[in-house]
Amino acid sequence: MTEAIRIILIGPPGAGKGTQAQRLRDLHGLVHISAGDLFRARIKDPNDPMGQQLKAILDSGALVPDAVTIQMIAERLQQADCAKGFILDGFPRSIAQAEALDAMLLKHNIKLDAVIQMEVDDDKLVERISGRYTCGECNTGYHDTFKPAQDAHTCDVCGAKDKFVRRSDDNAEAVRARLKTYYNQTTPILPYYEGKGMLKRLDGMASMDEVTAAIEAILKGPKDSPGKNPPRP
Ligand code: AMP
Repeated sequence: MTEAIRIILIGPPGAGKGTQAQRLRDLHGLVHISAGDLFRARIKDPNDPMGQQLKAILDSGALVPDAVTIQMIAERLQQADCAKGFILDGFPRSIAQAEALDAMLLKHNIKLDAVIQMEVDDDKLVERISGRYTCGECNTGYHDTFKPAQDAHTCDVCGAKDKFVRRSDDNAEAVRARLKTYYNQTTPILPYYEGKGMLKRLDGMASMDEVTAAIEAILKGPKDSPGKNPPRP
């Protein structure tokens, strides 16, 4: 019997949500849903009429309007692969989004297993973020200092050559704006989930392996925890 896992990762930019989500995806066969990645895919699509507006919002460090974001995530969650379980990385980021997500999950009788807050020191975030790059083909994340590609031109995972990309909002000014947005608009969802008894915190400053282990421990958690889904046949 397998059990679908459904979790939310919350944390400021650079907390390591994307890295951990990729690891959990690979460890448990889950779907990694990153709102930021979905927006970046739309920005890259020359036929998307909203692409340029989205780019301006992402570059400013502000949030995309809730209505657009909620619709995009609702469509993604309806895709068949999400039955395997999912990690929501960067959604919800506002109370309105958290409430909309609850309504979506209730409609499909789905329960979340955990909402995990990754706590990090603000002064380390700029350092972490400014070294980030990803493979433009398979989206594997790297870092100049903490996780460089073995060959500066080649993706370790898919072998793509000269496809590394850096995000245009990974600069000091945009990071400061993204942090402000996080504290003003996203941290209010923490008491929302705490009130439901779902919030778990972990030290996002620990090593990548330690953070993964901490998430695994949360997921193993007490077997009768209220958020657990019934086993899937
Ligand atoms: P991320 O890749 O998670 O760092 O997100 C990059 C940017 O995408 C954010 O700074 C926002 O502009 C936008 N974004 C990502 N997730 C959301 C969300 N849940 N609601 C609104 N905007 C978002």
